[in-house]
Amino acid sequence: MKTKIIKIDPSNVCESSLIEAAEIIKNGGLVIFPTETVYGLGADGTSAEAATKIYFAKGRPSDNPLIIHIEDPRDASKFTYTNETYFRLAEKFMPGPLTVVLPAKDNVPKETRASLPTVAVRCPSNPIAKTLIRLSGVPIAAPSANLSGSPSPTKASHVIDDMDGRVDMIIDGGDSEFGLESTIVKVEDNGTLTLLRPGKVTVDDLLTVCPVVKIASAVTDQLAENEVVLSPGMKYRHYAPKSPVYLIEAEAEKAFNYIAERSASSYVAALCYEEDIELLKIKAPNVHIYKFGAENDELLQAHLLFDILRDADKHTFDEIYAPLPRKEGVGLALYNRMIRAAAYHIIRM
Ligand code: AMP
Ligand code: MG
Repeated sequence: MKTKIIKIDPSNVCESSLIEAAEIIKNGGLVIFPTETVYGLGADGTSAEAATKIYFAKGRPSDNPLIIHIEDPRDASKFTYTNETYFRLAEKFMPGPLTVVLPAKDNVPKETRASLPTVAVRCPSNPIAKTLIRLSGVPIAAPSANLSGSPSPTKASHVIDDMDGRVDMIIDGGDSEFGLESTIVKVEDNGTLTLLRPGKVTVDDLLTVCPVVKIASAVTDQLAENEVVLSPGMKYRHYAPKSPVYLIEAEAEKAFNYIAERSASSYVAALCYEEDIELLKIKAPNVHIYKFGAENDELLQAHLLFDILRDADKHTFDEIYAPLPRKEGVGLALYNRMIRAAAYHIIRM
């Protein structure tokens, strides 16, 4: 398939530039579009055939459901059984990087929700995404626009690498603002929340709306064999670079001594906080260094992570080392992605 690539400035979106993309969605085709989290691979969320095309284009297992993207938070009631907790979340965090899992209505095809009785809805804030949804006149089902198993795309070049020739159109809207996928919460029948995937909307943010937020164990811990997952995406390895990744929990000095030792006989890469780079260069001059923002700048780290993991795949590192993120605030989202990239390997010293 020939993929048409168009470029749009998200700070200056004119409707006419998105009419062709909207027509593709209406006609059951596939359009990759930018959001504030990562790029999405979109199709008509009310069409079973369109959902099937998404799974095929990504090589995604069909038991891993899609998120449907709406333009107005109130539209969730057309496709799900909304409740008071949903509207409190919507009031505070929508449009924005929060996905809410609710009981699905019959008009959401089972292909979109992987036969689950629930469906995940999100209302993105990116002006290109919003305009595309509005012009399409349907909710847009969209997972991240990467080939299954590679990191979510945060730049148009990532999307083109993975998906050129597999979709009808790619909209290049520049780099994703946040760079990690949305926070996903499930609203339980009693109105409490379960965090299924951490993101920019943090647990503390959620607690301002709902007094009970349970964190699903798979957010931080490896699933036990045969454990039932609350969110199907949790059981896939995801975000794993070709080279083994190890997360180190230690003071910089100690960590760098270890990395230096390893780099004497191996080709090693390290993600390194800005303030520690000079020390790492002195201790381990052979190491390929990825600048990972300042230690306290988790938003920048979130923005950089997937691009670094993709770049690492272009090299043939024997080992990749990175600092273990903290589990608080946005750190929890980094922890959740990095622990998977590292296949749960943590070195503590
Ligand atoms: P992606 O769009 O690639 O970030 O993937 C969306 C993720 O949302 C999936 O991997 C699922 O884990 C999660 N998800 C979507 N729908 C549901 C649902 N109905 N219940 C629980 N999790 C869901
Ligand atoms: Mg994904």
